[in-house]
Amino acid sequence: MNGTMMYDALTTGSLIEHAARYHAGGAVVSVETDGSVSHTDWAGIAANAHRLASALDRLGVAADARCGTIAWNNRRHLEIYFGVGSGGRVVHTINPRLTPEQIAFIVGDAADEVLFFDQTFVPLVAAVKGHLPTVKHFVLMGPKSDEAAAKIPGLLFFDDLLQSGSADHRWPEVDERAPAALCYTSGTTGNPKGVQYSHRSLVLHSLSGNQPDGLAIAARDTVLPVVPMFHVNAWGVPYIAAAVGCKLVLPGPGLDGASLARLIDAEKVTLALGVPTIWMGLLAALAKSGSKAESLKRTVVGGAALPPSMIREFREKYGTDLIHAWGMTETTPLGTLNNLLQKHVGLPAEEQNRIRQSQGRPPYGVSLRLVDDTGAELPSDGSAQGNLQVRGHWIVESYFGKDKSALTTDGWFDTGDVATIDPDGFMVIRDRSKDIIKSGGEWISTVELENIAVGHPAIANAAAIAARHKKWDERPIVIAVVREGAAPTEAEVLAIYEGKVAKWQIPDRVIFVEALPLGATGKVLKAKLREEFGDILWQD
Ligand code: ADP
Repeated sequence: MNGTMMYDALTTGSLIEHAARYHAGGAVVSVETDGSVSHTDWAGIAANAHRLASALDRLGVAADARCGTIAWNNRRHLEIYFGVGSGGRVVHTINPRLTPEQIAFIVGDAADEVLFFDQTFVPLVAAVKGHLPTVKHFVLMGPKSDEAAAKIPGLLFFDDLLQSGSADHRWPEVDERAPAALCYTSGTTGNPKGVQYSHRSLVLHSLSGNQPDGLAIAARDTVLPVVPMFHVNAWGVPYIAAAVGCKLVLPGPGLDGASLARLIDAEKVTLALGVPTIWMGLLAALAKSGSKAESLKRTVVGGAALPPSMIREFREKYGTDLIHAWGMTETTPLGTLNNLLQKHVGLPAEEQNRIRQSQGRPPYGVSLRLVDDTGAELPSDGSAQGNLQVRGHWIVESYFGKDKSALTTDGWFDTGDVATIDPDGFMVIRDRSKDIIKSGGEWISTVELENIAVGHPAIANAAAIAARHKKWDERPIVIAVVREGAAPTEAEVLAIYEGKVAKWQIPDRVIFVEALPLGATGKVLKAKLREEFGDILWQD
């Protein structure tokens, strides 16, 4: 050994140890399933994570077992993230909004040995239990409850389980390439597929995704991940928060605007993260309550297309900067984040808002490219539109349980998104490749049509889809939800498109509905809308 540097594996255990050692008193606030608020700190989370890992050892759970969770964002879930993952096992987060059949499918596919769940999901687990042959231990995330025990024979209780473990436990040595977490895609087409995150990929994602041009979370921040811990690691926040030791506020089941507004004010949240529909709820609640969300400096918004008016509303009414981000289950998920460059600093607010509308630029560790349908690379000139492909340290290589590579022959992952990239690397998602509308051979972006529709003061939400058409193959139509108290006509909504898109891109129809159908991750189910309304322009 001559002239070498130390090697220390990049593990999630190293993140929680850092938090325990240097941010022991950093607060973790948790809204529990019964609405009560509990307070702990990073030292407490780390100690319980060790107790849990040691309790699972004593219970005889396999050293590399997968352990499922069906849970809200709360402190026990955080303890499981580290107790299971850093303990050498794999934490498999399950979306409770999936159907019971889908839940049975993914628990079986993952062969989960343990299933942890919140009180809310006792009825769900009691109903599917008979279809979960791999699960040896069911654990309710709370203290002993005779009522729950009566519904699920042999039920264990998290708080008792912790008592059986030891806080003197040490993390096992694990290979940094070994898995620590598992999450399934939402499976809008076919069965869900599992994406397994390695210790190394999670640590690199935490370090690089949190650079100043990324999430930029500091120890002095108070962070509210509204994005669920059951969906792509709450965008990595639990790991990033441990790496920096910030105050963490876990909102539990109350994700409505009014509950979030109260929590932001009570805990002085400085940064909150979530999908656009969550922030629509928050903005409506703030307007109603008159709160100025004084403490809130930044929100991170991603997971679905961002309504352009949201950037302005946050900034002008609440002084909150909005960071637009893009990613997917297969990308851990941080793929791009939007922060301005030096040359944008002096620009007028409107111009800055326009730049902030893009999904942003990749942090170190992620590369993007555009290709056409033959696989030939397209220029990043801001106008060439093509299939978005990605590679990097925290991008999937193969799905869980599948031997086959998920990549192109030259090693890129095809995202299924259609995008443009400008010379500075700012990427704009134009559509999902399966949603885009092809009218007379020309592409029309559904995202663009939706953004314009929600810009109409009477429209609360909208989805643009392709309707079958004899002459043009497909034509755009818009399915819209009207704001409470408003009653626009179809012609009034269509008029808003004049001058904003080319004439042939203006939708043929606007159809008003009570609500849009949403999938398990809160995204509009466009396939369902196409089934219902796709033939509306078809006349014999
Ligand atoms: P799914 O399992 O449905 O793919 P993901 O949560 O992994 O669920 O969703 C990833 C997809 O969500 C992306 O491929 C993209 O289409 C969409 N998406 C994510 N972030 C954004 C964004 N900021 N703007 C537009 N679309 C987005």
